[in-house]
Amino acid sequence: MSNLSRLAIHQVTFRDQWSFRESIEGLARHGVRKTTVWRDKLQEIGVYEGARILRDNGMEVTGLSVGGLATSPDSREWQAAVDENRRVIEEAATIGADHVVVLSGGLMGDSKDLQGARERALEAIAQVVPDARQAGVKLGLEPLHPMLCANRAVMCTLEEANDWCDVLGDDETVGIVVDTYAVWWDPRMERELEIAGSRICAFHVNDWLPETRDLRLDRGMMGDGVIDIPAIRRAVEKAGYEGPCEVEIFSERVWWRKDPDDVVRIIKDRFRTHV
Ligand code: ZN
Repeated sequence: MSNLSRLAIHQVTFRDQWSFRESIEGLARHGVRKTTVWRDKLQEIGVYEGARILRDNGMEVTGLSVGGLATSPDSREWQAAVDENRRVIEEAATIGADHVVVLSGGLMGDSKDLQGARERALEAIAQVVPDARQAGVKLGLEPLHPMLCANRAVMCTLEEANDWCDVLGDDETVGIVVDTYAVWWDPRMERELEIAGSRICAFHVNDWLPETRDLRLDRGMMGDGVIDIPAIRRAVEKAGYEGPCEVEIFSERVWWRKDPDDVVRIIKDRFRTHV
């Protein structure tokens, strides 16, 4: 049975129903006071106005999603992506976020240079570690499921995230975001969580639908799929993580079409029974 005080819900879970303000006020109305902010929505309303709304609603901001995405083989484009990450870090500091959710980015266009993409993504993160340290914001490296390796994340295992943390060499500033959707299949998961230990800076939960119909936007509600979420939670907590459990559901087909107040109610129920 999960204690609701640990519950966070990502703003993106209501991407199509609620604006920035509606989502923060909506979560507060349901007694949920932790969220990860979606950058597109923040930019729609403006960072300072967004910060004010979060503050007025007593919202604890766990993450700002997303940063990273710097794999371009074109040096000018790559540099622009690094600069963009500096802006993300500033925004995260302004809204009081604990960390930026950092995705590596995928291959660009029809490139087959996977190794190069990994090197460029890692170098881009290395470039902004001092900015993050200075701003007091963590960089949370989130490996995604390998099915997204082509277009979203060339960093697709916990092992790789741990390796990158080793290279970056600043565990105070660089952490790892564990998402059930990304790690549940991995036979090395428990070992790598143990290695990660205090690097774990966030835990995202949602479920894998056995007949998933979209690479990115068909995540399931906890309990509707095949992931043993409580087992992963136990492993994450055994590794030392004590922070929030953050529900993050991208669902073009189902959950983005429902009444968002109902979605919050269902999340609270499922959080008690399936997380
Ligand atoms: Zn996630």
